[in-house]
Order: sequence, then structure tokens, then C-alpha cells
Amino acid sequence: MISRIDLRGDAFPEGGIDRDLLPRAELDVEAALEKVRPICDDVQHRGTAALIDYAQRFDGVEIERVRVPAEALTRALDRLDPAVRTALEESIRRARLVHGEQRRTDHTTHVVPGGTVTERWVPVERVGLYVPGGKAVYPSSVVMNVVPAQEAGVESLAVASPPQRDFDGLPHPTILAACALLGVDEVYAAGGAQAIAMFAYGTDECRPAQLVTGPGNIWVAAAKRLLKGRIGIDAEAGPTEIAILADATADPAHVASDLISQAEHDTLAAAVLVTTSTELADQVDKELEAQVAAAKHVARITEALSGTQSATVLVDTLDQGLKVVDAYAAEHLEIQTENAGEVAARVRNAGAIFVGPYAPVSLGDYCAGSNHVLPTGGCACHSSGLSVQSFLRGIHVVDYSRDALAEVAHHVVTLADAEDLPAHGAAIKARFAGGGQDRHSE
Ligand code: NAD
Repeated sequence: MISRIDLRGDAFPEGGIDRDLLPRAELDVEAALEKVRPICDDVQHRGTAALIDYAQRFDGVEIERVRVPAEALTRALDRLDPAVRTALEESIRRARLVHGEQRRTDHTTHVVPGGTVTERWVPVERVGLYVPGGKAVYPSSVVMNVVPAQEAGVESLAVASPPQRDFDGLPHPTILAACALLGVDEVYAAGGAQAIAMFAYGTDECRPAQLVTGPGNIWVAAAKRLLKGRIGIDAEAGPTEIAILADATADPAHVASDLISQAEHDTLAAAVLVTTSTELADQVDKELEAQVAAAKHVARITEALSGTQSATVLVDTLDQGLKVVDAYAAEHLEIQTENAGEVAARVRNAGAIFVGPYAPVSLGDYCAGSNHVLPTGGCACHSSGLSVQSFLRGIHVVDYSRDALAEVAHHVVTLADAEDLPAHGAAIKARFAGGGQDRHSE
């Protein structure tokens, strides 16, 4: 079911691993841009009327308004299965615990006596949070978007999720209930590119946002790419990925179930096993056959595991395995080896790392306390997952006294002259012309 890439012996590229050697989902966001551009333009010009039309065209629902009424949120929470409510509450509690402690504090550096630079962390004023709802619905993504935004101190936040045919054109009730649990009362029944455009341009129902975060399909990613600049974005989160670095000590049944758990998301999801043990690889193959046959979403999982984006990669040593997983830069990376903590400490590139036999990715998807909106497509080599930090801007506040400026004035003038920008130097000299008085407030 899952193909093999054999990098043992001379096949291992000691000089460095070419990214293309490793499997990856093909996602042509550039091509999708052409399709989403008219959708976004339409939302800019026709607002709610355009959103209503797209709800009919892409989601197959007739809706009269896009904003979800407050009663629908309350009703969804009242009718929520008590076990789901308790689980969501625990997920929220753990996410708050972790994200609350991630909030950076302002820091002042005393550069010289009388000269300080303070880094002030200021939340974005208004954010739009996208919660997917096409093939599957993700109340967990409500938690993962909303909690860091709230912990960052964002004043105004709105959630958008696709309207559902089976629920009168409202987003899925569990998504509405999760919003209600988190105290979010501004929710829109809008999906895909049109939802991102709604946040970027605003409509008569929805005030524009300054930042849009959250995962989604190719149309969501393309709209984020198109509208980036007008709005800030977190990342173009693509189809989900799991990589597992395992040795002979790993349990093949657990490895197989974890590969399947991510393949269940999407036919484009990637599941990659990197191992030093051929025996483990063979046992995992057998487990996959048995477990996939018994899985609920067997067709989706089979397509994901047998696609070119998924593979088992054989290597001779764990050092080589680490080079492979670093080159791959997986969204989720599990370490199922002896001394897993030490091996994990050597990883440089991953969205999130799950250490040892009792930290499967499913735990992180829902209840570890960590965030599950993570960089995909190799972006983990330069980007982080969603966090409190995603909703804050660091503003440098520069405060120098007359004496502190005088001390460094000649250097500023020299550098300004070296760049042939003499007006910069003149702005410094003007402060000291004719003795000048000290106007500093403190
Ligand atoms: P989605 O909400 O992203 O997309 C559904 C919307 O796509 C629809 O409402 C519709 O408006 C639009 N659409 C559908 N067909 C279209 C077309 N032909 N042209 C234009 N627009 C169209 O839901 P999804 O499709 O299930 O995708 C969710 C994705 O998010 C999956 O790939 C999943 O793996 C990923 N995901 C990632 C994370 C993460 O943290 N990285 C978490 C949850 C989900």
C-alpha cells in the first residue's frame, strides 16, 4: 500500500538531501489563484450577496444571511452531547494553560545611560479565524485558533466556517457550540476563498479583519496568498502531514495507526515513515493492510497512503534518519526510537515533535495543550505553528535623552553621509545647533 524509498548504503545522499527526493503532496496553489481571484473580487464588490451566491454554488445551500444568529450559538451549546462538551472543555483548559504561558512580556534594553529600546508586544486589533468544514468538520480548530488569539489579548475576533447542507446552512453545530463555549459570538457561515475575502474586504455584516489565520483547503490557501499584504496571514496550511522516525524498538501497530490517523484527513494527506529497521517496515506494512481494511474512511486513507506523497524511507542509521526528517520538515514529527527525548532534541525542522510511544499526533490534534495549526509543505524549516505570538506585533519603542543622542550623534552622521543621505545627518545636527535646550521629558 505504501511505497518504499531505499536510502541505505551508497544510495544515501551524503552531500545533502534534495527536497524532491522525498514525497510531498502536489498542491498547485498558483493555478488555484486564477480561480479564486474573481471570487475575491466579487466579494469585494457585492459583499454579502456574493457570499450567499457562493454558498449555493460551492456548498449547495440557500442562505439569507451570512452572520450566524446568537440564538443558533446558544442552541448548539444547549444541544451539545455532554461528553463532547466535557472533552472540548478539557481541550480548551489545556490549550489555555500552554498558550497563556507563551505570552511574551515587554522588554526594555538599556543601551546607554538615558537611551533605551523597549520591545512592546501589542495584539492585532481584529482577526478573522477560519475553521474548515468541507470534507470533515473541525471544532478542534475553533479551539486552536481562538485560544491563542484570546490569550494574546485580541479585542475583536470572528470565526468563519462553511455552511452545511444538513444544518439549515449554518456551520456544523459542534463548531457553533465550540464558539459559544469560548465566548465567541461573531460567527459567519462562509467557506473557502469567499470567507477569506469577506475578512479582507469586509461586508455590510462583517467588519474587515487585519489578520486571518487557520487551516483550509487549496481555495483557502490560494485566497490567503492572493490577499496577503491587504491582510496578514498565518500560513498557507496545506494538506496534513505526519513523519515518524522509528527504530526497531517501535511498536508496528502504533506506527501504523498513527500513519492512518493523519491519512484519514484528506486524500492528499502525507504519511511518511523513516526507519532504520527493515523488519519494522515490513511489520508496519502488514499492520496497515489489516488496520486500513477496518477503518471507517477506508477509501480516503487508501488513496492518501498509496499516493506519491506517502512512503517508507529506509536508512542505515538514526543520524541519516534525522537528516531525512530535517530535509522533509514535517508538519507533525513523531520520534519512536530508543532514547526518544535525546533524538527529538537533535531535530531542527518540524512543525511539532511528538516524543516517545505515548505522545501520538492525535493527542496533539485535540488535547495535548499544543497547537494543531502547523506549517505544512516543508514550511516548518522557516515558520512556526499558530501561537500567541502569531497574534502579536513587536513594536520597538526608542527613547533617548539629549546626552544619549549626543554620545552617538557623530556615528549617525558618518553613516548617513556614507549612504549619501545627508538630510539624515542634518536631523541629528539640528538638535545641537546653537547649544539647543534639553526637551526630553524625563
Ligand atoms: P475547507 O473548509 O477548507 O473548504 C471547504 C470550502 O471550499 C467550501 O465551503 C467551498 O466554499 C470551497 N470549495 C469547494 N470546492 C470548491 C471549488 N471547486 N472551487 C472553489 N471553492 C471550492 O474544508 P476541506 O475541503 O475539508 O479542507 C480542509 C483542509 O484543512 C484539509 O486539507 C485538512 O487536512 C486541513 N486541515 C489542516 C489542519 C492543520 O492544522 N494544518 C487542521 C484541520 C484541517
